[in-house]
Amino acid sequence: MSQTKFNVRKVAVLGAGVMGAQIAAHLVNAKVPTILFDLPAKDGDKNGIVLKALDGLKKLKPSPLAGQDVVAHIQPANYDDHLHLLKDCDLVIEAIAERMDWKADLYHKVAPHLGEHTIFATNTSGLSINALAQSCPDSVRPRFCGVHFFNPPRYMHLVEIIPCVTSDAHILDNLERFLVSTLGKGVIRAKDTPNFVANRIGVFSMLATIANAAKYGIRFDVVDDLTGPRLGRPKSATFRTADVVGLDTFAHVVKTMQDTLPQDPWHGLFQTPDWMQKLIAAGALGSKTKAGIYKKD
Ligand code: NAD
Repeated sequence: MSQTKFNVRKVAVLGAGVMGAQIAAHLVNAKVPTILFDLPAKDGDKNGIVLKALDGLKKLKPSPLAGQDVVAHIQPANYDDHLHLLKDCDLVIEAIAERMDWKADLYHKVAPHLGEHTIFATNTSGLSINALAQSCPDSVRPRFCGVHFFNPPRYMHLVEIIPCVTSDAHILDNLERFLVSTLGKGVIRAKDTPNFVANRIGVFSMLATIANAAKYGIRFDVVDDLTGPRLGRPKSATFRTADVVGLDTFAHVVKTMQDTLPQDPWHGLFQTPDWMQKLIAAGALGSKTKAGIYKKD
Protein backbone atom coordinates (compact mmCIF):
# COMPACT_ATOMS: atom_id res chain seq x y z
CA MET A 1 0.00 0.00 0.00
CA SER A 2 1.33 3.45 -0.90
CA GLN A 3 2.13 5.75 2.02
CA THR A 4 3.50 8.58 -0.10
CA LYS A 5 2.68 11.05 -2.80
CA PHE A 6 2.77 9.66 -6.31
CA ASN A 7 1.74 10.93 -9.70
CA VAL A 8 -0.81 9.28 -11.93
CA ARG A 9 1.04 8.85 -15.22
CA LYS A 10 -1.04 6.26 -17.04
CA VAL A 11 -4.74 5.40 -16.82
CA ALA A 12 -7.01 2.59 -18.00
CA VAL A 13 -10.74 3.15 -18.39
CA LEU A 14 -12.97 0.05 -18.29
CA GLY A 15 -16.09 0.59 -20.40
CA ALA A 16 -16.30 2.56 -23.66
CA GLY A 17 -19.88 3.73 -23.24
CA VAL A 18 -21.26 7.25 -22.86
CA MET A 19 -18.97 8.04 -19.92
CA GLY A 20 -15.94 5.79 -20.38
CA ALA A 21 -15.15 6.96 -23.92
CA GLN A 22 -15.52 10.62 -22.98
CA ILE A 23 -13.44 10.21 -19.80
CA ALA A 24 -10.72 8.60 -21.94
CA ALA A 25 -10.86 11.56 -24.37
CA HIS A 26 -10.65 13.99 -21.48
CA LEU A 27 -7.58 12.17 -20.15
CA VAL A 28 -5.69 12.21 -23.45
CA ASN A 29 -6.63 15.87 -23.91
CA ALA A 30 -4.73 16.37 -20.65
CA LYS A 31 -1.82 14.40 -22.16
CA VAL A 32 -2.32 11.37 -19.94
CA PRO A 33 -1.62 8.08 -21.80
CA THR A 34 -4.90 6.16 -21.69
CA ILE A 35 -6.07 2.64 -22.50
CA LEU A 36 -9.79 2.15 -23.14
CA PHE A 37 -11.26 -1.33 -22.55
CA ASP A 38 -14.57 -2.90 -23.42
CA LEU A 39 -15.97 -6.37 -24.03
CA PRO A 40 -14.90 -8.12 -27.25
CA ALA A 41 -17.43 -7.41 -29.99
CA LYS A 42 -19.71 -10.30 -30.98
CA ASP A 43 -18.77 -9.99 -34.67
CA GLY A 44 -15.22 -11.21 -33.93
CA ASP A 45 -13.54 -7.79 -33.99
CA LYS A 46 -12.23 -7.93 -30.44
CA ASN A 47 -11.70 -4.16 -30.13
CA GLY A 48 -14.83 -3.40 -32.16
CA ILE A 49 -16.89 -1.86 -29.33
CA VAL A 50 -14.06 0.49 -28.36
CA LEU A 51 -13.30 1.46 -31.96
CA LYS A 52 -16.97 2.26 -32.60
CA ALA A 53 -17.05 4.36 -29.43
CA LEU A 54 -13.95 6.27 -30.51
CA ASP A 55 -15.55 6.94 -33.87
CA GLY A 56 -18.68 8.17 -32.08
CA LEU A 57 -16.61 10.69 -30.11
CA LYS A 58 -15.85 12.55 -33.34
CA LYS A 59 -19.55 13.22 -33.88
CA LEU A 60 -20.49 14.23 -30.33
CA LYS A 61 -21.63 17.77 -29.62
CA PRO A 62 -20.24 19.46 -27.60
CA SER A 63 -17.05 17.82 -28.79
CA PRO A 64 -15.01 16.04 -26.11
CA LEU A 65 -11.96 16.43 -28.34
CA ALA A 66 -9.50 19.28 -28.15
CA GLY A 67 -7.66 18.27 -31.33
CA GLN A 68 -8.48 16.16 -34.34
CA ASP A 69 -5.99 13.44 -33.49
CA VAL A 70 -6.91 12.96 -29.85
CA VAL A 71 -8.83 9.77 -30.52
CA ALA A 72 -5.74 8.24 -32.11
CA HIS A 73 -3.94 8.57 -28.78
CA ILE A 74 -6.41 6.36 -26.94
CA GLN A 75 -5.21 2.75 -26.94
CA PRO A 76 -8.10 0.33 -27.64
CA ALA A 77 -8.20 -2.88 -25.56
CA ASN A 78 -10.44 -5.80 -24.61
CA TYR A 79 -10.67 -8.09 -21.58
CA ASP A 80 -9.63 -11.23 -23.51
CA ASP A 81 -6.28 -10.01 -24.79
CA HIS A 82 -5.07 -6.99 -22.86
CA LEU A 83 -5.58 -7.39 -19.10
CA HIS A 84 -1.78 -7.58 -18.65
CA LEU A 85 -1.62 -3.88 -19.66
CA LEU A 86 -3.35 -2.92 -16.39
CA LYS A 87 -0.27 -3.54 -14.28
CA ASP A 88 1.46 -0.40 -15.62
CA CYS A 89 -1.54 1.84 -14.95
CA ASP A 90 -1.50 4.07 -11.88
CA LEU A 91 -5.26 4.53 -12.05
CA VAL A 92 -8.00 2.25 -13.40
CA ILE A 93 -11.45 3.81 -13.72
CA GLU A 94 -14.36 1.38 -14.09
CA ALA A 95 -17.22 2.86 -16.14
CA ILE A 96 -19.35 -0.11 -17.21
CA ALA A 97 -23.15 -0.35 -17.01
CA GLU A 98 -24.77 0.54 -13.67
CA ARG A 99 -25.33 -3.03 -12.50
CA MET A 100 -23.81 -4.26 -9.25
CA ASP A 101 -23.60 -7.88 -10.50
CA TRP A 102 -21.85 -6.94 -13.77
CA LYS A 103 -19.39 -4.69 -11.97
CA ALA A 104 -18.68 -7.45 -9.41
CA ASP A 105 -17.96 -9.98 -12.19
CA LEU A 106 -15.57 -7.57 -13.86
CA TYR A 107 -13.75 -6.81 -10.59
CA HIS A 108 -13.07 -10.53 -10.09
CA LYS A 109 -11.65 -10.63 -13.60
CA VAL A 110 -9.43 -7.52 -13.48
CA ALA A 111 -8.28 -7.40 -9.84
CA PRO A 112 -5.49 -10.02 -10.23
CA HIS A 113 -3.99 -7.90 -13.03
CA LEU A 114 -3.82 -4.56 -11.21
CA GLY A 115 -0.39 -3.22 -10.31
CA GLU A 116 0.64 -3.21 -6.67
CA HIS A 117 -0.05 0.53 -6.30
CA THR A 118 -2.86 0.98 -8.81
CA ILE A 119 -5.80 3.10 -7.66
CA PHE A 120 -9.00 1.29 -8.63
CA ALA A 121 -12.02 3.61 -8.83
CA THR A 122 -15.60 3.24 -10.01
CA ASN A 123 -17.58 5.89 -11.88
CA THR A 124 -20.86 4.48 -10.56
CA SER A 125 -23.69 7.01 -10.38
CA GLY A 126 -24.80 5.86 -6.98
CA LEU A 127 -24.27 2.18 -6.16
CA SER A 128 -22.78 1.52 -2.74
CA ILE A 129 -18.98 1.82 -2.86
CA ASN A 130 -18.69 -0.34 0.25
CA ALA A 131 -20.78 -3.07 -1.38
CA LEU A 132 -18.71 -2.88 -4.59
CA ALA A 133 -15.50 -3.06 -2.53
CA GLN A 134 -16.63 -6.50 -1.34
CA SER A 135 -15.93 -7.78 -4.86
CA CYS A 136 -12.29 -6.69 -4.64
CA PRO A 137 -9.63 -8.86 -3.00
CA ASP A 138 -8.20 -7.67 0.35
CA SER A 139 -5.08 -6.37 -1.39
CA VAL A 140 -7.14 -4.03 -3.60
CA ARG A 141 -9.72 -2.74 -1.09
CA PRO A 142 -7.44 -0.04 0.40
CA ARG A 143 -6.96 1.30 -3.15
CA PHE A 144 -10.66 1.25 -4.07
CA CYS A 145 -13.06 4.21 -4.05
CA GLY A 146 -15.71 5.99 -6.13
CA VAL A 147 -14.71 8.66 -8.67
CA HIS A 148 -17.90 10.12 -10.05
CA PHE A 149 -17.51 12.24 -13.18
CA PHE A 150 -20.53 14.05 -14.61
CA ASN A 151 -21.77 14.07 -18.18
CA PRO A 152 -20.19 15.46 -20.33
CA PRO A 153 -16.97 14.87 -18.37
CA ARG A 154 -14.87 17.32 -20.34
CA TYR A 155 -17.18 20.21 -19.50
CA MET A 156 -18.56 19.35 -16.07
CA HIS A 157 -16.27 20.73 -13.40
CA LEU A 158 -17.40 18.57 -10.50
CA VAL A 159 -16.04 15.14 -9.63
CA GLU A 160 -17.17 13.33 -6.48
CA ILE A 161 -14.64 11.12 -4.68
CA ILE A 162 -16.43 8.57 -2.53
CA PRO A 163 -14.26 6.64 -0.09
CA CYS A 164 -15.26 3.24 1.26
CA VAL A 165 -14.39 2.21 4.80
CA THR A 166 -11.18 0.53 3.60
CA SER A 167 -9.94 3.37 1.33
CA ASP A 168 -6.42 4.46 2.21
CA ALA A 169 -6.19 8.22 2.87
CA HIS A 170 -3.05 8.54 0.72
CA ILE A 171 -4.80 6.97 -2.25
CA LEU A 172 -7.64 9.46 -1.95
CA ASP A 173 -5.19 12.37 -1.68
CA ASN A 174 -3.21 11.21 -4.74
CA LEU A 175 -6.40 10.78 -6.74
CA GLU A 176 -7.71 14.19 -5.73
CA ARG A 177 -4.42 15.87 -6.62
CA PHE A 178 -4.53 14.26 -10.07
CA LEU A 179 -8.14 15.30 -10.69
CA VAL A 180 -7.48 18.88 -9.64
CA SER A 181 -3.98 19.53 -11.03
CA THR A 182 -3.98 17.42 -14.17
CA LEU A 183 -7.66 17.41 -15.17
CA GLY A 184 -8.63 20.80 -13.71
CA LYS A 185 -11.59 19.40 -11.81
CA GLY A 186 -13.32 20.61 -8.66
CA VAL A 187 -13.54 17.74 -6.21
CA ILE A 188 -15.85 17.08 -3.32
CA ARG A 189 -15.60 14.06 -1.06
CA ALA A 190 -19.01 12.49 -0.67
CA LYS A 191 -20.23 9.90 1.79
CA ASP A 192 -21.22 6.47 0.52
CA THR A 193 -24.96 7.21 0.57
CA PRO A 194 -27.36 6.22 -2.25
CA ASN A 195 -26.53 8.30 -5.36
CA PHE A 196 -24.05 10.36 -3.29
CA VAL A 197 -24.70 14.12 -3.34
CA ALA A 198 -25.30 15.51 -6.83
CA ASN A 199 -27.41 12.65 -8.21
CA ARG A 200 -29.46 12.38 -5.03
CA ILE A 201 -30.53 15.98 -5.57
CA GLY A 202 -30.47 16.02 -9.39
CA VAL A 203 -32.35 12.77 -10.02
CA PHE A 204 -34.90 13.66 -7.33
CA SER A 205 -35.52 16.95 -9.09
CA MET A 206 -35.85 15.21 -12.50
CA LEU A 207 -38.32 12.68 -11.09
CA ALA A 208 -40.40 15.43 -9.48
CA THR A 209 -40.45 17.36 -12.76
CA ILE A 210 -41.40 14.24 -14.76
CA ALA A 211 -44.23 13.45 -12.32
CA ASN A 212 -45.57 17.01 -12.46
CA ALA A 213 -45.35 17.10 -16.25
CA ALA A 214 -47.54 13.97 -16.34
CA LYS A 215 -49.94 15.33 -13.72
CA TYR A 216 -50.50 18.63 -15.54
CA GLY A 217 -50.18 17.23 -19.07
CA ILE A 218 -47.23 19.42 -20.08
CA ARG A 219 -45.32 18.43 -23.24
CA PHE A 220 -41.66 17.31 -23.03
CA ASP A 221 -40.41 20.20 -25.12
CA VAL A 222 -42.30 22.75 -23.03
CA VAL A 223 -40.92 21.28 -19.80
CA ASP A 224 -37.43 21.30 -21.31
CA ASP A 225 -37.78 24.91 -22.37
CA LEU A 226 -38.84 25.84 -18.83
CA THR A 227 -36.19 23.76 -17.05
CA GLY A 228 -33.41 24.44 -19.58
CA PRO A 229 -32.86 27.68 -21.52
CA ARG A 230 -35.24 29.74 -19.37
CA LEU A 231 -33.21 28.80 -16.29
CA GLY A 232 -30.01 29.76 -18.13
CA ARG A 233 -29.05 26.12 -18.83
CA PRO A 234 -29.13 25.98 -22.65
CA LYS A 235 -27.72 22.45 -22.91
CA SER A 236 -29.43 20.96 -19.92
CA ALA A 237 -33.09 20.26 -19.40
CA THR A 238 -35.12 17.47 -17.88
CA PHE A 239 -36.06 15.10 -20.70
CA ARG A 240 -33.12 16.01 -22.91
CA THR A 241 -30.80 15.28 -20.00
CA ALA A 242 -32.40 11.84 -19.55
CA ASP A 243 -31.72 11.13 -23.24
CA VAL A 244 -28.10 12.26 -22.91
CA VAL A 245 -27.55 10.23 -19.73
CA GLY A 246 -29.13 7.12 -21.29
CA LEU A 247 -32.63 6.00 -20.27
CA ASP A 248 -31.35 2.60 -19.08
CA THR A 249 -28.72 4.26 -16.89
CA PHE A 250 -31.31 6.73 -15.58
CA ALA A 251 -33.61 3.79 -14.70
CA HIS A 252 -30.77 2.00 -12.86
CA VAL A 253 -30.08 5.14 -10.82
CA VAL A 254 -33.78 5.46 -9.97
CA LYS A 255 -33.82 1.79 -8.93
CA THR A 256 -30.93 2.42 -6.54
CA MET A 257 -33.08 5.09 -4.85
CA GLN A 258 -36.11 2.79 -4.83
CA ASP A 259 -34.18 -0.14 -3.32
CA THR A 260 -32.05 1.72 -0.80
CA LEU A 261 -34.28 4.51 0.50
CA PRO A 262 -37.46 2.70 1.62
CA GLN A 263 -38.06 5.12 4.52
CA ASP A 264 -37.71 8.25 2.42
CA PRO A 265 -40.92 10.33 2.57
CA TRP A 266 -40.67 10.74 -1.23
CA HIS A 267 -40.17 7.02 -1.89
CA GLY A 268 -43.29 6.88 -4.09
CA LEU A 269 -41.59 9.23 -6.53
CA PHE A 270 -38.63 6.87 -7.06
CA GLN A 271 -40.04 5.03 -10.07
CA THR A 272 -39.17 4.92 -13.74
CA PRO A 273 -42.38 5.91 -15.56
CA ASP A 274 -44.07 3.17 -17.62
CA TRP A 275 -43.62 5.07 -20.89
CA MET A 276 -39.86 5.26 -20.25
CA GLN A 277 -39.69 1.56 -19.41
CA LYS A 278 -41.37 0.84 -22.75
CA LEU A 279 -38.76 2.91 -24.59
CA ILE A 280 -35.98 1.03 -22.78
CA ALA A 281 -37.55 -2.34 -23.63
CA ALA A 282 -37.67 -1.24 -27.29
CA GLY A 283 -33.95 -0.38 -27.21
CA ALA A 284 -34.61 3.37 -27.51
CA LEU A 285 -32.09 4.38 -24.85
CA GLY A 286 -31.56 8.03 -25.78
CA SER A 287 -28.69 9.73 -27.59
CA LYS A 288 -26.47 6.61 -27.57
CA THR A 289 -28.98 4.66 -29.67
CA LYS A 290 -30.09 7.72 -31.69
CA ALA A 291 -33.62 7.20 -30.40
CA GLY A 292 -35.19 7.95 -27.06
CA ILE A 293 -37.58 10.56 -25.67
CA TYR A 294 -36.57 12.77 -28.57
CA LYS A 295 -36.28 10.83 -31.78
CA LYS A 296 -32.81 12.14 -32.50
CA ASP A 297 -30.30 13.91 -30.27
P1 NAD B 1 -23.22 2.88 -21.19
O1 NAD B 1 -24.44 2.04 -21.19
O2 NAD B 1 -23.12 3.98 -22.17
O3 NAD B 1 -21.92 1.96 -21.39
C1 NAD B 1 -21.71 0.87 -20.61
C2 NAD B 1 -20.54 0.06 -21.16
O4 NAD B 1 -20.43 -1.10 -20.33
C3 NAD B 1 -20.78 -0.42 -22.59
O5 NAD B 1 -19.73 0.02 -23.40
C4 NAD B 1 -20.85 -1.94 -22.47
O6 NAD B 1 -20.22 -2.62 -23.55
C5 NAD B 1 -20.15 -2.21 -21.16
N1 NAD B 1 -20.70 -3.39 -20.50
C6 NAD B 1 -21.99 -3.76 -20.43
N2 NAD B 1 -22.11 -4.90 -19.74
C7 NAD B 1 -20.87 -5.25 -19.36
C8 NAD B 1 -20.34 -6.34 -18.63
N3 NAD B 1 -21.15 -7.29 -18.14
N4 NAD B 1 -19.00 -6.38 -18.42
C9 NAD B 1 -18.19 -5.43 -18.90
N5 NAD B 1 -18.64 -4.38 -19.63
C10 NAD B 1 -19.96 -4.29 -19.83
O7 NAD B 1 -23.07 3.41 -19.69
P2 NAD B 1 -22.52 4.82 -19.21
O8 NAD B 1 -23.61 5.81 -19.30
O9 NAD B 1 -21.20 5.11 -19.83
O10 NAD B 1 -22.33 4.52 -17.66
C11 NAD B 1 -21.16 3.86 -17.19
C12 NAD B 1 -21.08 4.09 -15.69
O11 NAD B 1 -20.96 5.51 -15.44
C13 NAD B 1 -22.31 3.63 -14.93
O12 NAD B 1 -21.92 3.16 -13.68
C14 NAD B 1 -23.13 4.91 -14.81
O13 NAD B 1 -24.02 4.89 -13.73
C15 NAD B 1 -22.04 5.94 -14.61
N6 NAD B 1 -22.36 7.31 -14.99
C16 NAD B 1 -23.13 7.56 -16.10
C17 NAD B 1 -23.40 8.89 -16.42
C18 NAD B 1 -24.21 9.23 -17.64
O14 NAD B 1 -24.61 10.39 -17.80
N7 NAD B 1 -24.48 8.29 -18.54
C19 NAD B 1 -22.88 9.94 -15.65
C20 NAD B 1 -22.06 9.62 -14.55
C21 NAD B 1 -21.83 8.31 -14.21
